[in-house]
Amino acid sequence: MKKLLFLLITLLFAGTVMVSADDKFVLVIDPGHGGRDAGAVRGSYKEKDINLGVALALGRLIESNMNDVKVVYTRKNDKFVDLYKRAEIANKAKANLFVSIHTNSTASRTTTAQGADTYILGLARSEENLAVAKRENSVILLEDNYSKRYEGLILTLQSLILSSNS
Ligand SMILES: [Zn+2]
Repeated sequence: MKKLLFLLITLLFAGTVMVSADDKFVLVIDPGHGGRDAGAVRGSYKEKDINLGVALALGRLIESNMNDVKVVYTRKNDKFVDLYKRAEIANKAKANLFVSIHTNSTASRTTTAQGADTYILGLARSEENLAVAKRENSVILLEDNYSKRYEGLILTLQSLILSSNS
């Protein structure tokens, strides 16, 4: 258990106020990383596996206790899913809420850090938010054709970096 002290669960929320076609509230649960993208690694622990376990447990909990919520997953096993496909899954499902689950790590082996971080997606208002966005989106470099697909996003991140530094 001590080995897990370095871990912090990060929930990235991107909420919308869209009303879905049926009466059910649609929750998309996104286990961060997967497949060739392990996320943070410490020893035999891989972020992608922890994220998947937490996401499936959360989904089961919601499905068995909240009949008015439809749960959709971006992945239910250890596979690589492009970021744009995760967005497509959420849009296709007409998601009311998109929850991306991540597990943080730190380079320090003597940290006492514990607990959870929650980020609500919006415009990057601080360098800290921007640093999280840059770190978590670095996975796009593992996708084929990323420079063309994310041209706009990369430019947006660059301009946000410039404005946060000024
Ligand atoms: Zn992550």
